[in-house]
Amino acid sequence: MELTVDNVSKSYPAAKGDTRLALAETSVTIAQGEFICVVGPSGCGKSTMLMIMAGLLAPTGGQVRLDGTLVTGPPAGLSVVFQDYGRSLFPWMNVRRNLAIAGKAAGLSRAETAERVREALAAVGLDGVENLYPWQMSGGMQQRTAIARALVVRPEVMLMDEPFAAVDAQTRADLEDLVLRVRHEYQMTVVFVTHDIDEAVYLGDRVLVMRANPGHLVSDVRVDLPRPRDQVSTKLDPRFAQLRSEIFRQVMRSVETTAPPLAPTFP
Ligand code: ADP
Repeated sequence: MELTVDNVSKSYPAAKGDTRLALAETSVTIAQGEFICVVGPSGCGKSTMLMIMAGLLAPTGGQVRLDGTLVTGPPAGLSVVFQDYGRSLFPWMNVRRNLAIAGKAAGLSRAETAERVREALAAVGLDGVENLYPWQMSGGMQQRTAIARALVVRPEVMLMDEPFAAVDAQTRADLEDLVLRVRHEYQMTVVFVTHDIDEAVYLGDRVLVMRANPGHLVSDVRVDLPRPRDQVSTKLDPRFAQLRSEIFRQVMRSVETTAPPLAPTFP
């Protein structure tokens, strides 16, 4: 599915009935099957843009379209994975029931849901844990469960908001490879918000860099690294180093223009 963001802006209510512009007019087109990463300093509007794409937040101006159809609420065929897996899974439901509610919400039959739950758990390498509760699993397993739940509807588009920010480095690398694999298996379009530049370059076909005050897009960098990628050889590729320093410079420039001036270091 092609995702188009057309002149989208967002203002939030501020003090005294005022509004504050969080996202200035932004346009971007994401082709079917592309993996897009979004990076930028905290507060530059990454989550706001993602929530508008998901139909969970209404834009103040502009529009989002999925294959030409206006997004006015959460569309069928689109799933969202949040950072806070601890709160997105229901602690009183075991893994199977946590996944089954996604099937039920999408109007699938019991039999179809059971089949999709099995398929999704196998896709994330979690078969055999159906009867565990979230609090009996590690953070990495909980996030894999959250990804499996997103897969139950066999989404064409998956939106991910800093999904691996709360796990350790080794688990994070495993989850990155898992996302690349399921994206390939399910032929999904992915939009992935992260503040980790290495992660963005490792995963993406394109990296969108955003800047704050108000949030807006500053660049759209094509990642021309070959696939399949792997944690060792991709990161040793000289092109990887070039891309990460180019994006790092863009992000730093965006921080410089938004940070207060430095105090003088001598009188
Ligand atoms: P990011 O994901 O890049 O950190 P956000 O999209 O969360 O950025 O936030 C962009 C700006 O909008 C920030 O200045 C933030 O404080 C503000 N903002 C986000 N959500 C709300 C809200 N619900 N109400 C008021 N302001 C908000």
